[in-house]
Amino acid sequence: MKNIIRIKSVSLIGLVYVALLAAAMVAPSPAPSQALHQAPGTSTPPGPSVPSPQGGAAGSAASPFGAQTQQGGLNIVVLDPAHGGTDPGARGTGGIRESEIVLDFAIQVRRALELQGFQVVQTRQGNENPSFDDRSATANAQRGAVFVTLHISSTGLPGTARVYVNSDLPPVTDSNGMIPWDRAQAPFLVLSRTFGNLVQGFLAQRFKGSPDAAQTASVRQLRTTAAPAIAVEISSVTVDDRADLDRMAPGVADAIARGAAAFKPSYVVPNTPGALP
Ligand SMILES: [Zn+2]
Repeated sequence: MKNIIRIKSVSLIGLVYVALLAAAMVAPSPAPSQALHQAPGTSTPPGPSVPSPQGGAAGSAASPFGAQTQQGGLNIVVLDPAHGGTDPGARGTGGIRESEIVLDFAIQVRRALELQGFQVVQTRQGNENPSFDDRSATANAQRGAVFVTLHISSTGLPGTARVYVNSDLPPVTDSNGMIPWDRAQAPFLVLSRTFGNLVQGFLAQRFKGSPDAAQTASVRQLRTTAAPAIAVEISSVTVDDRADLDRMAPGVADAIARGAAAFKPSYVVPNTPGALP
């Protein structure tokens, strides 16, 4: 609980900062704290937003904040073991719970990423279940981060792995020219696809029968994340022996770490948390 509160206050600072900077350009500012005070599990809150690409900064190293922005490098991976707490995720007939397996996978993914020089921030360490918004807020408070959510599916050919990126989001902006919280992923979709294809390529080399390229889907967790963001889904909880899944963990960890390292040079990171790529 302490952790969640700390994460919330950190992300609040980041979002307020973004909102304040944006307010210097477009007034009036939306109430920045609203969404973070909503009960966990509520969806599509109003409030925090990210500057719009219509502001003139999209797709370049320039930013709405002009000289205040310096470029840094991608150095953080926010790792999200999905589900947890009262939400076990997918369950196999053999008693395998997705929420437990992804936590075990996360340990190995983390280690592989750290060996590549990345700092890893996890959205949960144990059997908690932060809300979708809490998890996105953890990512949105970072500067120079990518986001990876880990799932074990109940479908698909056992022994394969798929990467999903969010399907196209209409570039909606609010009356302040800002991108609403639930469209935060929109400016990052191209980068997410680049990152996703790299990880999927490494997964396909390791796990025969996996697709060659990332697929698109409507993924709630990715939609509110203002960073290059992918979902990695492993098949499946239907295996009789969980050792079959455990054996996949090193290959999945290696593919994510190599994908992040390969993606790093193509991502010029804005200096402001939550700002545009
Ligand atoms: Zn899942």
